Amino acid sequence: MERPAIEGGSPVRATRLFYGHQYIDEADVKAVTQVLTSDYLTCGPKVTELEAKLCEITGAKYAVVCSNGTAALHIAALAAGVGEGDELITTPITFAASANCGLYCGAKPVFADIDPNTYNISPASVKAKITDKTKAVVAVDFTGQAVELDSLLEMCHEKGIVLIEDGAHSIGTKYNGQPVGSIADMTTFSFHPVKTVTGGEGGAVLTNSEELYKRLLLFRSHGITRDAELLENESHGGWYYEQIDLGYNYRMTDIQCALILSQLDKLKMFSDRRKQIVNRYNEAFSRIPELFVQQEIPQSDTTRHLYILRIRPEMLNIDRKGFFEALAAENICCNVHYIPVYWHPHYQRLGYQKGICPNAEKLYNEMMSLPLYYSMTDSDVEDVIKAVGKIVDYYKK
Ligand SMILES: *Cc1c(COP(=O)(O)O)cnc(C)c1O
Repeated sequence: MERPAIEGGSPVRATRLFYGHQYIDEADVKAVTQVLTSDYLTCGPKVTELEAKLCEITGAKYAVVCSNGTAALHIAALAAGVGEGDELITTPITFAASANCGLYCGAKPVFADIDPNTYNISPASVKAKITDKTKAVVAVDFTGQAVELDSLLEMCHEKGIVLIEDGAHSIGTKYNGQPVGSIADMTTFSFHPVKTVTGGEGGAVLTNSEELYKRLLLFRSHGITRDAELLENESHGGWYYEQIDLGYNYRMTDIQCALILSQLDKLKMFSDRRKQIVNRYNEAFSRIPELFVQQEIPQSDTTRHLYILRIRPEMLNIDRKGFFEALAAENICCNVHYIPVYWHPHYQRLGYQKGICPNAEKLYNEMMSLPLYYSMTDSDVEDVIKAVGKIVDYYKK
């Protein structure tokens, strides 16, 4: 049996393999430099172009790009009318922003548990958490796999609740053959460098509702409008605008838009390679009984953003922390997505108790995210598989 590097053996690789990395090519560089010498650095034609492109890719009627995925969630919650005294249901296995958008609006985030096999929010748990105060559900396509949109939409619409799909992981994913972005009441994307498509920073909200679209535009830009239909007083002249609500400066620059447009030309390429790597990981890990492979619902054709390695600690003499450190010693850098949101001190101080979502907490204790990104080579992928196999072999009971 091979000795793991953490026990004094030699590592599977000599150089560190990161868990995520952006892929930028010459076309991306050219797209950005062209904007820099154009007339508009912000509020220019690239914004319109990107919004049109996102509509084309997803089939959504309207797109509003904004400064980042967190801003996208904030304006989506505002557009949904989330405010003081309301509740917003989300999953604990997500980046804090999915719940924070509720807090920004003065509402109370309520956590529904996950499905223990797919790791996405469980529709049954959402149903159990709905009250008269529930205004919105923020359902996260965790790792890129679409949430159970059919049942969530039905449940929400029956009660007048707005379904916001946090698609930060899922650009390129389809649900029942239809691209994510055109199905929920609103879908948000993130273009952070670790995500499938990047703008350095960036976000977007997609919707089919004209009413929501108009509200999103307002909240993105200070609550200010020049739209004659929305003005409350008579115009003073050509310069006239009014602030009719309290919004923010959540605009995206044309520089970011140009980069994202150029990256979107590679979406299929990114998506295909990610699927290939996921298939190879699944093939290797489904043969190892000490590991649990994330289950997919048949409706989701997934462009995977994250690959979750989940161990069965009862079959191993090593826990998640030990496994994570053993992989790092092999020069395979992992991450953990995510610490249950309500475990964070800020949420603890707001009165959330540990233990409210047992499936989420169990998952947290058993998982880590393996390297997954477009530019990984086949031999990088094999290194990861070899390192995982080596650690399981050494520590299995
Ligand atoms: C990345 C991410 C966000 C936030 O996006 P930013 O662009 O970093 O603000 C929100 N939700 C999820 C699930 C994410 O992964």
